[in-house]
Amino acid sequence: MSEMPRQRGLLFCLSGPSGVGKGTVIDEVRRRRPQVAHSVSITTRPPRPGEIEGVHYYFRTPEQFHQLLVEGEILEHDNYCGHYYGTPRSPLEAMRDEGRDVLMDITVPGSLAVMENHTDVVMMFLMPPTLTELKNRLTKRGTENDSVVEQRLLKGRIEINKANLFNYVVINDELTATVHRILAIMDAEHCRYERLKGLEAFVLSH
Ligand code: 5GP
Repeated sequence: MSEMPRQRGLLFCLSGPSGVGKGTVIDEVRRRRPQVAHSVSITTRPPRPGEIEGVHYYFRTPEQFHQLLVEGEILEHDNYCGHYYGTPRSPLEAMRDEGRDVLMDITVPGSLAVMENHTDVVMMFLMPPTLTELKNRLTKRGTENDSVVEQRLLKGRIEINKANLFNYVVINDELTATVHRILAIMDAEHCRYERLKGLEAFVLSH
């Protein structure tokens, strides 16, 4: 029997304040569902110990970043606490063409920029249970000095106040529960009627 034409992969943004656990959640989503693609970003921030080029980020100089911007190779970008971060365009579109959903870990302004160009993007906001808990997580991570932690917390407060702009808000209280919720959102989005155009015709003609 012939199959229903394959859907193009969907685009999911996962935003939320630094330290809320976006990276851990994305890693766990992909461990459970390896066909979900993660968009590896380009950044001008120096690598943290253990971060690998091409896995965690593509680490570039500000000049290289600017060149990619000029060439139109960056879908959206933001300056976050003094460093540039951006999403490379071509790999993301290629993964979607293969039918793979793409999950992006980006700032709130980055998500809003993607929404302007891709009206079908699904916007998810990962919320800490409390600001105190966010501070604990950021401090415990130990990857940034005190002034950077303070800077990130300040940004975090602003980001939390933008949660109303998102389609979904998931409170990251416990990793397994959070991952279940994210996967449920992804599944539900695939069942939206507007994403299943032509289904009735296919069913009725087979
Ligand atoms: P970190 O330095 O902790 O890896 O990331 C700092 C912030 O930059 C995080 O909130 C992360 O979501 C965001 N970020 C990472 N990659 C991108 C990107 O490609 N575009 C945008 N707009 N933000 C990004």
